[in-house]
Amino acid sequence: MKILITTLTAFGLLVATLSAQPPQKPLAKKLLPIIDMHLHADRANAQGPPPIAICAPFPYWPDRDPRAPSLDYVMTFLKKPVCKKPLWSPMTDQELMTQSLDILERRNIVAVASGELDVVEKWKQSKPDRIIPALSFNVNDGVPVEKLRQWVKEGKIAVFGEMGDQYRGVTPDDPAYEPYLGLAEELDIPIGIHIGPGPPGVAYFGPETKNYRARMHSPLSLEEPLMRHPKLRVYVMHAGWPMIDDMVAMLYAHPQLYVDVGIIVYAFPRAEFYRYLQRLIEAGFGRRVMFGSDQMVWPQAIEKAIESIEAAPFLTAEQKRDIFYNNAARFLRLNKDGKIN
Ligand SMILES: [Zn+2]
Repeated sequence: MKILITTLTAFGLLVATLSAQPPQKPLAKKLLPIIDMHLHADRANAQGPPPIAICAPFPYWPDRDPRAPSLDYVMTFLKKPVCKKPLWSPMTDQELMTQSLDILERRNIVAVASGELDVVEKWKQSKPDRIIPALSFNVNDGVPVEKLRQWVKEGKIAVFGEMGDQYRGVTPDDPAYEPYLGLAEELDIPIGIHIGPGPPGVAYFGPETKNYRARMHSPLSLEEPLMRHPKLRVYVMHAGWPMIDDMVAMLYAHPQLYVDVGIIVYAFPRAEFYRYLQRLIEAGFGRRVMFGSDQMVWPQAIEKAIESIEAAPFLTAEQKRDIFYNNAARFLRLNKDGKIN
């Protein structure tokens, strides 16, 4: 999920200063490793002027009065959370990075961290062993293919994504995707594409997202690209929620396809997330569901996401290990040094 609140930022809203929760103390024993396939290395104002809130999880989705300005609805999300104990974002880029990296260290997590190149590099330099660098971009941003090739060669990027084109109304079968899919296939670089939920009502949030549509939650838009690029290593970020039948059909028809559970794992009403995940598992795809937090500007969301998987009553211990680590290690082809092959 990426909120893209340009409208909100422009209004320069006055906000109450609420301090973010401090990082917790280290856990006593070394924990089993986790791979987070969906972490954002963002600036503190990436989703709007901090501090902003998120419910983990939302008890319900707020309703929108169509007479009210759309900004009111955005405000409900960011400043007037509907839950009792929301997470509040840190105020500065430094706090956001430090708190996030502390959690990676404490919980023994390696994360695919996506964002702008300079921010990702800063995070990577701070904790090289914990960060797999990923470039987040949109296919219509005009990022030159040769530049990407160079960054991959230089080791600056190991994953393409999060590809957030759905917010702009562009699906993976759009011709604009082709050069990037071709490059990912040629370089054997994993690519993560946002297919699924943004914030509710995001199409009304502003000009950048006005072409977002509900039908774009369907991963079926990935089918022709997969056929054109059979060696592509692609994962559906957010697991195509709520299009479960389409997702199951795609996983069945394309056994190389993986998903992550970003945002639905911690922010969505828990019963709904469990029902969705359970369907994927019971349909036989427990080896292709990967842990992903979709932590944006709320470091504690990583731990909320972990707790959600740990507490899932229908998962065996083996299935949890597959989701937390084994599936992503296989997808990324991690070698024993933790590098992607
Ligand atoms: Zn996303």
